Amino acid sequence: MSEINKPFIESLVTRFKVIGFDADWTIWQPIQGQGKENQFRQDPFDVKWMVERKEVLQALYNLGVRLFIATNQGLTPFLPSEAEAEQFIRQHLKASEILVSEIGSNVRIYHCFTYPPVDYKPQLEKYVSEDDFMRKPNPGMLFTAMSDFEIANVHDVLYVGDRLEDEKAAQKAGVHFLGAEAFFSKAYR
Ligand SMILES: [Mg+2]
Repeated sequence: MSEINKPFIESLVTRFKVIGFDADWTIWQPIQGQGKENQFRQDPFDVKWMVERKEVLQALYNLGVRLFIATNQGLTPFLPSEAEAEQFIRQHLKASEILVSEIGSNVRIYHCFTYPPVDYKPQLEKYVSEDDFMRKPNPGMLFTAMSDFEIANVHDVLYVGDRLEDEKAAQKAGVHFLGAEAFFSKAYR
């Protein structure tokens, strides 16, 4: 096990009041099909912490940085019925809650369950949204986190993610961004 880079963690604590993370392939990954980068979960509970990532969030949390997770979960409109979509959402919320509770009680999590319209397969209209402000690359979830944590200054916020949509959401919100690989490689000696 690598040793956490304390000066880096302390520099984050000094600079940022709030740090947000994307979920899938930033801090969490599917349990099934390991090693296949960017693979989707087989079901909402098919998820675990990536190696040596929880420890970094824990260190930040313990030093008083407020943490949030903002995740797009766009499979919802492609489920066969609204009842199944609702169950899927409940299970997703539960799976996130279980993982987040391993850090502490004050980690916030935001999910976006909508997806833009497609013409290649049926979608549940309730979960279709052309340009949902909450769906990354839009900044809605990041703004909601800032509001919930009562942060007025965008410079107090860092967002970390593995995809271009994460970087764009951070840009649109005006907050700092670091790629997941860069962030977590700096977090260890
Ligand atoms: Mg991701």
